[in-house]
Amino acid sequence: MQDGNNVVLHEFAHQLDQEDGKAEGVPILNSKSNYQLWSQVMTIESQQLCDNIHRGKPTIMNSYGATNPA
Ligand SMILES: [Zn+2]
Repeated sequence: MQDGNNVVLHEFAHQLDQEDGKAEGVPILNSKSNYQLWSQVMTIESQQLCDNIHRGKPTIMNSYGATNPA
């Protein structure tokens, strides 16, 4: 509870991602424009996470989250 790790949230994210049978980091969304928005947001946030980890800044997600966009 105090270490900032939550395996349930991690595995829940996998369930949302794999609802379409693929593990590529994209959940089922309800429109084509939402896929474009998802991609834009995830690209920015993934890069920010990687940058913060490389700079030693504190992050909400641990460094494992920067090993793969999915
Ligand atoms: Zn995982």
